[in-house]
Amino acid sequence: MEQYWSGSAVNENKGMVYNLQRYGIITSRKVAEVMETMDRGLFVPGGLQPYVDSPMPIGYNVTISAPHMHATCLQLLEKNLQPGMHALDVGSGTGYLTACFALMVGPQGHAIGVEHIPELVSFSIENIKKSAAAQPLKDGSLSVHVGDGREGWPEFAPYDAIHVGAAAPEIPQPLIDQLKPGGRMVIPVGNLFQDLQVVDKNSDGSINIRTKTSVRYVPLTSREAQLRG
Ligand code: SAH
Repeated sequence: MEQYWSGSAVNENKGMVYNLQRYGIITSRKVAEVMETMDRGLFVPGGLQPYVDSPMPIGYNVTISAPHMHATCLQLLEKNLQPGMHALDVGSGTGYLTACFALMVGPQGHAIGVEHIPELVSFSIENIKKSAAAQPLKDGSLSVHVGDGREGWPEFAPYDAIHVGAAAPEIPQPLIDQLKPGGRMVIPVGNLFQDLQVVDKNSDGSINIRTKTSVRYVPLTSREAQLRG
């Protein structure tokens, strides 16, 4: 059958969200709303298929994560992305997830992206400017910074939510330190075989870790090692 909606980015983005709901990956109204509002097409380099459920190359030997991974992480972090909360996105790449975080935490909250490739930081800022998160970027409730995300971003710590978009051989201690009691971090851990781990910090500062699923992310590493490939 002819796709009567083809050519409309808004409807293609909606279709992607609809499918993620149908497959049970998006389970909440809030996450569906945010992903419907944030057009993924604005974050994927031209000539690629932004609404297909697959990672896409964004240069510098890395990829934008697949829609189902973004949706999974938004679901896991939803309770820690309430209005007014602080969220850190390590390895923010295209800026897509940082922008989603900004919509969730609202103008009283803070969404911070840290990315070690300066060109990707510039790319993400241009993408965000065209998106539904342009205002948060303007008013400062969303910011993206060049830095080594293994050190976190102490300036706005502690965080209610930390997302790591690249796989670490082990969980960097600064990220655990920058998690608020009651806070949650979602991080892929491992080398070739990786687990998506959910790290919850209790009110006494102790942590609980559980494994959600097996994943395959690009490594959280040094800029030099990444560019070497
Ligand atoms: N979550 C982003 C990008 C995922 S790819 C998106 O979906 O668009 C992982 C990103 O982590 C890449 O952009 C890579 O450059 C970045 N990265 C890898 N190691 C890093 C480090 N040590 N510090 C900061 N960013 C890092």
